[in-house]
Amino acid sequence: MLGQMQSQPLLISSLITHAERHHASTEIVSRRVEGDIHRSNWGQIARRARQVANALDGLHLAAGDRVATLAWNGYRHLELYFGVSGTGRVLHTLNPRLHPEQLAWIVNHADDRAVCFDMTFLPLVQAVAGKCPGVKHWVALCDADKLPADSGLPGLVSYEAWIGAQPDTYLWPDLDENSASSMCYTSGTTGNPKAALYSHRSTLLHAYGAALPDALGCSARDAILPVVPMFHVNAWGLPYSAAAVGCKLVFPGPAMDGKSVYELIEAEKVSMAAGVPTVWQMLLGHMQAGGLKFSTLKRTVIGGSACPPAMINAFHDTYGVEVLHAWGMTEMSPLGTVCTLKNAQLALSPEEQTKVRLKQGRAVYGVDMKIVDESGNELPWDGKAFGDLLVRGPWIIASYFKGEGGDPLRYDAAGKGWFPTGDVATIDADGFMQITDRSKDVIKSGGEWISSIDVENIAMAHPAVAMAACIGMKHPKWDERPIVVVVKKPGAELTREELLAFYEGKTAKWQIPDDVVFVDAIPLGATGKMQKMTLRQQLKDYVLK
Ligand code: ADP
Repeated sequence: MLGQMQSQPLLISSLITHAERHHASTEIVSRRVEGDIHRSNWGQIARRARQVANALDGLHLAAGDRVATLAWNGYRHLELYFGVSGTGRVLHTLNPRLHPEQLAWIVNHADDRAVCFDMTFLPLVQAVAGKCPGVKHWVALCDADKLPADSGLPGLVSYEAWIGAQPDTYLWPDLDENSASSMCYTSGTTGNPKAALYSHRSTLLHAYGAALPDALGCSARDAILPVVPMFHVNAWGLPYSAAAVGCKLVFPGPAMDGKSVYELIEAEKVSMAAGVPTVWQMLLGHMQAGGLKFSTLKRTVIGGSACPPAMINAFHDTYGVEVLHAWGMTEMSPLGTVCTLKNAQLALSPEEQTKVRLKQGRAVYGVDMKIVDESGNELPWDGKAFGDLLVRGPWIIASYFKGEGGDPLRYDAAGKGWFPTGDVATIDADGFMQITDRSKDVIKSGGEWISSIDVENIAMAHPAVAMAACIGMKHPKWDERPIVVVVKKPGAELTREELLAFYEGKTAKWQIPDDVVFVDAIPLGATGKMQKMTLRQQLKDYVLK
């Protein structure tokens, strides 16, 4: 027997329609490329998203055509999020931190038809345009009078002139909810980048899941600052969850340094901010130096890489801000787990609670996860056994764009497909998952595994350490031994011996790194993560003493 409920497709256009109807005057505040602060609201975003829709129809782009953005977090980017996907075209958020060659490869692979870019990226666009013959339309996200006269880009238009000429009424099409809505390429640490192609349905289910109280807990009373870029897995889906709950959004534009982020948090009464650890490192550094405090910030979502305990403690103990440690990946839209405590953990001592907060957390409803050994046998949830982390759910990819890389799933005895995350993890009896490593970063010493994250976390707890990366080095007896590569805080003094002594008593003796290598900088990837492959390359002549 079938249920007798209305069958309405889950569409991204319904998010913006809802936000306009119920939260029209709720603000969307952006720091612009020009440096000034721009104020908009959900009502204006919705009207302008409809102008975007009309403008796209005017270009005669087909349903499913890719419209790319090369833009910081801001109101125009938000309008494109809804305007492009709402019409049935696919929003392709390009990562401007990529090398021009790689960027051109991605634009061509995605068959992007139009590229909308912030003026900051004009030189980058000029560098790749000649290599991307498939792009027929270039739109500069600026006022008409800011458009450069001799850009060399054929038919370049300013966004404001382009949408300004359009009516602000539009009937959003009734799409199939499984239609593609947006796409994002993985950072491609191995091989060519591959894309996750999200659907309206997956995006809406993710928006519901992410907004839940035990996930990111978004509400109409929040002012959310996504420092995580809108080109990094749709800013972790926050623009969609924000439209669903109707909260205020605050966008940092290109200014992600500690001072700018702090000023925005205070001026716009931000209650929740989200970003990768490197961003918070800069913010905390600025606050410590100036003896500053937060007056409104309650929660900060930290994900993308493991959050060091020293950072959780600084937010929690010094600033009274709750850290929501979150884990996910491009292939998962991205949210998989969030570390919010259950009643049982709230009864633990503060030290024990910190240990729990360090974990990547519990699965958001919608995500099923398990850990398996090398033969695919499921491992127990005892907090000790570790193995490959596999996931399944309606916002996790079934395959990559264009079928690249073949079928990525692993099938269980019941024929259910699981996506292998490439992460190695434990899961405890309460369902809290903890990443011990990415499978390719695991260090194997004398047959035993050493978690590079654990080694890094201890170094990061030293007051003189700004950043630490642990990598394995070939060793004649032990196969591999860990070394820790360290960037010191400006002006700080630290010797190899002092840091190694700091490990004593904090971990098993055989897990203490064999050496400390001081460097000026650790290479960071396009999404702010440490590039261990590049680091290994840089240290290729290093020999363990
Ligand atoms: P890429 O996989 O291309 O680097 P993603 O942004 O999709 O880009 O990264 C996903 C990976 O980032 C995860 O598989 C995991 O290794 C790592 N990651 C994400 N969040 C966390 C976290 N909270 N703790 C540890 N690792 C994390």
